[in-house]
Amino acid sequence: MSSSWQTELAESFTDPQELLRFLQLDPTDFPDINLAHSVFSFKVTRSYAGRISKSNPHDPLLRQIVPLSDELYSPAEFLVDPVGDIAASVTPGLLQKYQRRVLMVMTGACAIHCRYCFRRNFPYSENIISKSREEEALTAISTDSDIHEVILSGGDPWVLSDEQLANRINALASIPHVQRLRIHTRMPVILPSRITPALLSILESTRLKVVVVIHANHPQELDHDVEQALNRLRIARCHLLNQAVLLKGINDTVEIQTTLSEKLFSMGVMPYYLHLLDKAKGTSHFEVTQAYAQNLMIEVRRLLPGYLVPRLVREDSGYPYKTPLD
Ligand SMILES: *Cc1c(COP(=O)(O)O)cnc(C)c1O
Ligand code: SF4
Repeated sequence: MSSSWQTELAESFTDPQELLRFLQLDPTDFPDINLAHSVFSFKVTRSYAGRISKSNPHDPLLRQIVPLSDELYSPAEFLVDPVGDIAASVTPGLLQKYQRRVLMVMTGACAIHCRYCFRRNFPYSENIISKSREEEALTAISTDSDIHEVILSGGDPWVLSDEQLANRINALASIPHVQRLRIHTRMPVILPSRITPALLSILESTRLKVVVVIHANHPQELDHDVEQALNRLRIARCHLLNQAVLLKGINDTVEIQTTLSEKLFSMGVMPYYLHLLDKAKGTSHFEVTQAYAQNLMIEVRRLLPGYLVPRLVREDSGYPYKTPLD
């Protein structure tokens, strides 16, 4: 029997027209929605959809997920693999770009399809650490004693079952030089019911220090259910950080960025990175220029204590860390 979060996930909206009806939106405001959906499929949980305001085609949460005709055309510098993930594979699905930390692509699945996603065109089938490829990846980690941190990413690693996660985490914890487990997940924001007692007990019982990096772009995403989920993670001794992507027309104002940081902090989450958009094919309409972003951060710094200012970064393939821009 599947647990309730799995049922909830299965009941996500996957037909964009159904979402438009649910939100009382006029389909003529969204030409080519079906065509854009056929290029990168549409998906959103009912929990997240419930935080989108009705009858507002410009809602900042809606704009993150609604397929638009803009996705069908993008300039040539918008690439299928903008950040060189494929070249960074150590074994299939195990990426290393930076020293002393590696990233495991656990799954290609997510609970939401963010239209700006840098992995929207990623060939997941050849690049996830499935059961059959697990041994190869774990051997690579255990033979390199410089690796102190393993990042579980995807897709969203928390779409996997508790059993799959527990097996993977236990295997990592048995490698003596691995000290930290980092989880990159949008689940606490997209499907807060995923943060179950069973998941918490896995996180609480590992010897590894656990860092959970959530992904919220806008304060409107952070409702009471999200707050409760974050609170449960904190009680389970997870360190909570947020990464966001700076998105045109969605969160590119001083007001939204300062409110986001303050609201995250009120829920126990420290702002970590604010990413400039990775230039993935089909995402050019979300792009904010670097100069604009840098000016925005100057204004944000005036208003917030330093610890609430996320680091503005850009990812350049082949560089030894995410490039700081301020
Ligand atoms: C972004 C990223 C990381 C994490 O970088 P930090 O600066 O440590 O947050 C690690 N590995 C890969 C492959 C990445 O893309
Ligand atoms: S949750 Fe993350 S990996 Fe999944 S579609 Fe959104 S940005 Fe991409």
